[in-house]
Amino acid sequence: MSLIETRAKSLLRKQKKIESWFVSRYGMNLYRGCTHNCAYCDGRAEKYRVQGEYGRDVEVKVNAAQLLKKELDPSRRRIPLKKGFVFVGGGVCDTYQPAEQTYGLTRSALEILADFNFPVHILTKSTLVLRDADLIRKINANTRAMVSFSFSSVDPDISRIFEPGVPAPAERLEAIAYLKSLGIPCGMYLLPVIPHVTDSVEKIERSVETAREAGIDFIVFGGMTLKQGRQEDHFMDVLRRYNPALPEAYRGIYHGCPWGSASSGYFNSIQQIFNRAARRYHMPRRIPLRLFKDWIDENDRVIILLEHMDYLLKTDGKKSPYGFAAYSLSGTKEPLSSMRNSLRRIKGVNVLVEKILLEILDTGTCAEYERLMGE
Ligand code: SF4
Repeated sequence: MSLIETRAKSLLRKQKKIESWFVSRYGMNLYRGCTHNCAYCDGRAEKYRVQGEYGRDVEVKVNAAQLLKKELDPSRRRIPLKKGFVFVGGGVCDTYQPAEQTYGLTRSALEILADFNFPVHILTKSTLVLRDADLIRKINANTRAMVSFSFSSVDPDISRIFEPGVPAPAERLEAIAYLKSLGIPCGMYLLPVIPHVTDSVEKIERSVETAREAGIDFIVFGGMTLKQGRQEDHFMDVLRRYNPALPEAYRGIYHGCPWGSASSGYFNSIQQIFNRAARRYHMPRRIPLRLFKDWIDENDRVIILLEHMDYLLKTDGKKSPYGFAAYSLSGTKEPLSSMRNSLRRIKGVNVLVEKILLEILDTGTCAEYERLMGE
């Protein structure tokens, strides 16, 4: 491991619209690079410009705490920050990778977020998050803290090969059980599901069943991207060692899409396996409203509910007007409750969407959303 200390110019990433996968408004990378060195890591792709040898070298933003304090301080801001979750993790690093043991940047960031009363959503693969359990519990008592763990499956042998630097799935599950015992909501990000390695019915069902047994609050599912260049080269080396026949099989799945996406036919097939498993074990496929409703503003709540309905309908092969409407609404500055009589002027808001919007504005939710989430 080689740690390179750097001084960043800014830290907090403000999203143009609320992010409905993580229900976050803001994000941050405290490190760049990750010694967990997962074979499939998307952060390895050239487009993210992580310097050095990925998996070994890590940039450490040693001035992160000063920057964050400055960027959150309302007295230093011309326009106050919107209420919303700060997403800690993901992107080009795991925020609880081994360097955190030395530098404590994540802990400092959480302390600052607690002082400024921001809700947080942490995503990690590391049990080092337990070091901060008391602090996370404090945030959850004052606002909201959620901790999610990512898994490509719960199979320890596969994890050892494809995620060489992270605790075994069973240890992550124990960490979840402990955090849940403290009243902290926990999610599973079942991603990336690795083609021909963790995408079988048995493996996906086992992961969902295990999540149910562990008391996890929701599971978000995702496929694997494979971008040409160093991400693909590294992954294929590991895959070849795992099973020399598999690289050839990948030709039928990845066709050189610039985002590295799998073919839609393949992705839909594994999505259907997941959908059936999630229904069978009654696991919500998106973060449930009860976990975030009090900590985001009215417009963001509407956008998230529409996007979640859109996802749930479309992944079941149904049509949905909600995604486009959510996108249009995200450009609206006024509170939607002040536009009750003019909602139809917004692009994508037809009679059906207007009815749904009014129901959400009146009750905080809508029957269609509750039905889809409860399926
Ligand atoms: S833990 Fe996440 S960021 Fe780190 S190598 Fe694995 S996938 Fe990449």
